[in-house]
Amino acid sequence: MIPLARRLQELAPSATLEVLNAAAARRARGLEVVDLGPGEPDYPTPEPIRAAAIEALDQGFTHYTPAGGTRELRAAIADNVNRRYGSAYPAAEVVVGAGAKQVLFNIFQVLLDPGDEVVLAAPYWVSFPAMIETAGGRVAAVLGRAEDNFTVHAAPLLERVGPKTRAVVINSPCNPTGAVMPPAELERLVDGLAGRPVLLISDECYEPFVYDGAPVSAAQYAGRARERMLVAYSFSKSYAMTGWRIGYGIGPRHLIDAMINLQSHSTSNPNSIAQQAALAALNGSQQSVTEMVAEFKQRRRLAMERLGRISALTCVEPAGAFYLFVGVGKLLGGELRDDVAFAARLLEQDGVAVVPGTPFGCPGFIRLSYATSRELLLRGLDLLDQFAKRYQASR
Ligand code: PLP
Repeated sequence: MIPLARRLQELAPSATLEVLNAAAARRARGLEVVDLGPGEPDYPTPEPIRAAAIEALDQGFTHYTPAGGTRELRAAIADNVNRRYGSAYPAAEVVVGAGAKQVLFNIFQVLLDPGDEVVLAAPYWVSFPAMIETAGGRVAAVLGRAEDNFTVHAAPLLERVGPKTRAVVINSPCNPTGAVMPPAELERLVDGLAGRPVLLISDECYEPFVYDGAPVSAAQYAGRARERMLVAYSFSKSYAMTGWRIGYGIGPRHLIDAMINLQSHSTSNPNSIAQQAALAALNGSQQSVTEMVAEFKQRRRLAMERLGRISALTCVEPAGAFYLFVGVGKLLGGELRDDVAFAARLLEQDGVAVVPGTPFGCPGFIRLSYATSRELLLRGLDLLDQFAKRYQASR
């Protein structure tokens, strides 16, 4: 067999995609699956956005665009962020990629040399360690406290910054915990990194999904920290556009230029039609976003009420995103060796798909998504209750 490159031998497939595959295999056998795994809204892309894509096609907007995105889209993105957060980013400090995933993948590629370290707030999005390690970096994870609902604080992250640290990564609202970083902590982190050659990478892909209070962005500190932060956003969740693959990063010009350069040699520009659709999303009415967020807030309440009646599980109400990070520690042991076995058994026995906490850097938990209909959500939680009772009784 032809050997793989050494740096890729350790690369595990995305745990969230594994759940999707296991659920699909079960469905193919004709069995029910209540999918509480999805990392995407159960909404169609709003009609005006779809119409803009059709118009782009009809007008023949089907050719290469500049690798970092069209001038119009980059300018609209800069204007949008500046208007909302009082920053003054020029369009040249914006890169549009095939999803925020490409933007985040590229930032580590242009930033890290072998052995460089990245301080990563945990629980973290599953792709961060793979991105960092594929770029030759090492992860220094800083795990939040469950009792504190995994709120990210500046002090423990700053304490981990050492001579080899090149970046600190935060994600608020967080996938998987739903935690929103308090503005005071974010400000402390921004200021605590001042004068150090360390980039703050703020993944804000779930930005509008904040249920108690207004969205917070690192961009609001751009006035004093523009040169040392990269903020990543996505159209995927806000506009139910996961399949279109459009996200963007805003950051220092030399890093943005390097990312565009890298992108120009890998995927070239993000899809031209999707870029026009994204432009329409930004410039159009935001009513669909408001409505979706309001519905998700209702689902969060429903799910928390139902979960509160499952005594063997623990969960603190998260302030954002569309996930619940549920502690299953009281049920572990025996056949349910760990959270990975828990998720596998739950799917096998009761047909509920969830993602285990281990790949998020936090064993003993599972992630439930409420980006699914109320009916399916409640059905999934009933089945989870049944599963928990069965294992509680057998202990
Ligand atoms: N960051 C986080 C925390 C995510 O959960 C995701 C997607 O699930 C992404 C980034 C990437 O989003 P996309 O590439 O679809 O823009």
